Amino acid sequence: MTEYVIPPPPQAAVKVAGSSKMFPVRRIWCVGRNYLEHIKEMGQDEREPPFFFAKPADAIVHDGGTVPYPPLTNDLHHEVEMVVALNSGGRNIAKEKALDCVWGYGVGIDLTRRDLQIASRNIKRPWEIGKAFDGSAPCGPLKPASEIGHPSKGRISLKVNGEVKQDGDLAQMIWNVPEIIWKLSEMVELAAGDIIMTGTPAGVSALAPGHKLDCEVEGVGKVSVTIGPKA
Ligand code: MN
Repeated sequence: MTEYVIPPPPQAAVKVAGSSKMFPVRRIWCVGRNYLEHIKEMGQDEREPPFFFAKPADAIVHDGGTVPYPPLTNDLHHEVEMVVALNSGGRNIAKEKALDCVWGYGVGIDLTRRDLQIASRNIKRPWEIGKAFDGSAPCGPLKPASEIGHPSKGRISLKVNGEVKQDGDLAQMIWNVPEIIWKLSEMVELAAGDIIMTGTPAGVSALAPGHKLDCEVEGVGKVSVTIGPKA
């Protein structure tokens, strides 16, 4: 057994609905620009394809948790997304085989320091500081595909303090789940424990301390978090 010079950090994990067992998280991948109406609201070129970025696994916040309002931003945005959790992986996974790699699904929020993301983009720097900060990946309990199947349509929505802000449908995704796994596995080797946030529909908006977010994907589940005081 390996001995470490400092205690190893805790294993990142997501809850599983109706179970005391957890899903261990290896990597968090995210799809950008996967819903046309969100591309339009961001003023971006509609013809450019989706792409990928990452968040650290320890950015996960569980359902019911509080996310401290992060530092250095005045424009924290919500992006509700369906989450795909993998039980296997590989390289160059064929679309037809991709769903065999899926353990289950959940609902997540790609929290974004929009002002920092856009500032990084404008000077052609990496945008981790806008996307990959502490607490930036709330994720609700996962449900296994063996129970709910592989959802390809259904309402995806987010409320802030009870007011609907985002309201779309999984069927609006530009790349569907098999296509996301196929494309991503061309770039990196996927593995069990990887989770993928699949992009957000239109309606993103700014958050403030005290805001309560309630998200739901029809047939998949829910996640709720509160934005806390400034970190
Ligand atoms: Mn996103």
